[in-house]
Amino acid sequence: MNGWMGKILHIDLTDSKISEIETQPYAAKYLGGRGLASRLYWEKVTPDVKAFDAENRLIFMTGPLLATGAQGAARMCVSAKSPMAYPEGYCYGSMGGYFPSELKKAGWDGIVIEGRAAKPTYLLINDEKVELRDATTLWGKGAYKVEEILKQVHGNKICFVTTGIAGENLVRTATLFGSQLAAVTAGFGAVMASKKLKAIVVRGTGGNPRVADSARLKELNRYTIKIKNTVSLAITPRIGMTNHGHVLKEVGKRHCYQCGLTCSKLIYRFGDDPNLEDLRGCQAMEFYLPWVYGREDEPIKTLFDAPTLTNDYSIDTFELQSMVEWLFACHKAGALTETETGLPLSKIGTREFLEKLLHAIAHREGFGDILAEGMMRVRGEVSDKARAKFPYNVAPIGMHDGVPPRAFIAHALLYPFETRMHPVTVHEMGYVRMPWTMYQMDPKSSPISPESFLKIARLFWGSEAAADQTTYEGKAMAARNIQNRTYLRDSLGLCDFVWPITYSLTSPDGVGDPDLEGNIFTAVTGIPASELGPFAERIFNMQRFIRVREGHRVPEDDFPPEFNFTEPLMFGVHGGKMIMPGPGAQPVDMTGNILDRGKFKAMLKEYYQLRGWDERTGLPSKKTLASLGMDDLPVNFR
Ligand code: SF4
Repeated sequence: MNGWMGKILHIDLTDSKISEIETQPYAAKYLGGRGLASRLYWEKVTPDVKAFDAENRLIFMTGPLLATGAQGAARMCVSAKSPMAYPEGYCYGSMGGYFPSELKKAGWDGIVIEGRAAKPTYLLINDEKVELRDATTLWGKGAYKVEEILKQVHGNKICFVTTGIAGENLVRTATLFGSQLAAVTAGFGAVMASKKLKAIVVRGTGGNPRVADSARLKELNRYTIKIKNTVSLAITPRIGMTNHGHVLKEVGKRHCYQCGLTCSKLIYRFGDDPNLEDLRGCQAMEFYLPWVYGREDEPIKTLFDAPTLTNDYSIDTFELQSMVEWLFACHKAGALTETETGLPLSKIGTREFLEKLLHAIAHREGFGDILAEGMMRVRGEVSDKARAKFPYNVAPIGMHDGVPPRAFIAHALLYPFETRMHPVTVHEMGYVRMPWTMYQMDPKSSPISPESFLKIARLFWGSEAAADQTTYEGKAMAARNIQNRTYLRDSLGLCDFVWPITYSLTSPDGVGDPDLEGNIFTAVTGIPASELGPFAERIFNMQRFIRVREGHRVPEDDFPPEFNFTEPLMFGVHGGKMIMPGPGAQPVDMTGNILDRGKFKAMLKEYYQLRGWDERTGLPSKKTLASLGMDDLPVNFR
């Protein structure tokens, strides 16, 4: 089995039982990562199981490209029934850094955890030797302290995953926190702690997985690094838009395992202070911007320390960003007071406010107990006046987003099929639009001309028509292609930051390479890339089965939220306009657009047909299941 290690660790905390699951029977149909985890979830987590029940499974799953040297292949999928989802349901997160590769080097493709330990416990994996140890002294400690203690006991070479006080107190948005600032959303920190599991420690010395054709893989890696020359995302959008991008200087790299590609995960210096210098990445470093709240005088240290404080408690920063903005709006409007919340709302933007907010949530104290339920649930616990402030901060899926369905028509089919508020499927078109926009503003700044955009649409999304956002033509195919590529990526172990390579600043025509993931897959596993198509269909259908079993209604819940059909799109950059590729990928203004219900229904029908789904049940037909070798799944169930 080139690429895979061959076995998955199975831990039953209730009985302290450690066993193995053979990878191959699952990988043969569901590949790895998100695909394999979803199949295990289907088998083990029935709809009646609640997120904090001992019967919930916390599943860590790597893919066949992870730790093989393939570029940007450092991610693992984590799945479980999510307490953050509303209502609770199947969800997934992605973890990078070094923990996933260390697990594989220890000889394991993944870990499935069930049950609940009688007392605080941590899991220690030393290659083949696996033990459950007493974690009483770790319980009650923040994530950084846990890391420090674990390294004192087991040495600096270990990799770990843990959760802070928020996880222990079952805060629904508690994250998993791991080596090299890796974090996982969906409330999985609380799921882990609900099992009385404080940490997982791994040390792997068994070497990397076997690769079928290492010379070919090296050649593809060189090509990947060359072609993966794209617009820098190093300064995150929010910091950039506040004109404070200058406070960040890139001073070095500390990438995930074996990754030589560039993303926002870098070592930054904040301001001019060499003491304010460390690894930061992505949205976590921009969720608390003091100057947004009129705190121009607040020391940069607050911005620098915000992710550290949050990681230590282990609270999701996407959630916190919405929450702080909502609290700010409520305070300004008099919808919430300092007395009723016990929070210094007049000091939002300061370190003092952030510390008090995090403490209150993590310890579930006072109003923090309500906030600990997550913003979607807070909605039902506050006054009408406070609830009225929600739309700007806690948006239903598809609203107040840089990639809304009313501007990216194919996205009307992407959002309803996802389980997360921040679905990664919407990145693919959104990322290509960026260099296209740059070209519109200054053709010298980007090679992504309308002609390049059309070619990308043809190669990646199935037709040139997919590029034109003024029609519904070609969008069903585009949505299916994007979903399949995303699900494969999450199952192979590839990183969303860099894959797929749709455009390139160094290729002759600005167009990326749609076949690259498949070629790398073949080099690593020896399996023809043509098999990836059926893998993608199986994985997507598996998630569809899970969601329908958990209450997703067909077809009602396959529609984007109602406001997309009734409220004109008012969001946009370029002076308030939403400029999008129209006919011939030439710019058109989509401001004011609404989705056409009749055309959407026709698009949804076309999408069902492309998937081989019964139009009435929204589930794969018997014929489709048979063609995918999924005959064991029920037809016509609810
Ligand atoms: S692109 Fe960045 S986040 Fe992705 S694997 Fe490489 S270093 Fe990690």
